Amino acid sequence: MDEDEVFRLLDGHTSTLPKLFEPVDSLFDQMQCPQCGGEVEKVVDDRAPFIESQVTPNFRARCLVCGCLSTKEGVIIQRGEVKRGANPLEGLSSVDPRNDLSGLPHGRTRGPA
Ligand SMILES: [Zn+2]
Repeated sequence: MDEDEVFRLLDGHTSTLPKLFEPVDSLFDQMQCPQCGGEVEKVVDDRAPFIESQVTPNFRARCLVCGCLSTKEGVIIQRGEVKRGANPLEGLSSVDPRNDLSGLPHGRTRGPA
């Protein structure tokens, strides 16, 4: 059977595949990374692309921020790398001696002035 014949036979029939993907797409669109809360993309699990009882491929969520890989239930398969400096407040803490200004004389600030 050549390609033209296949298309002629399919002409007039509607594909049901997009309808099967709608709930999956919707689920991943609403999902956030379980590690950092970032936006995720839907990727096919390359270790197990298909499951016997499932029509659609076996999708995983990959975080666009940290690269974390998780299941659609939010179970982390592979942790991502949260880049330092992504959050400007990261690393600041009241117990960090570099941030403790209480020892400075009144009216003075640290650093060049
Ligand atoms: Zn993330």
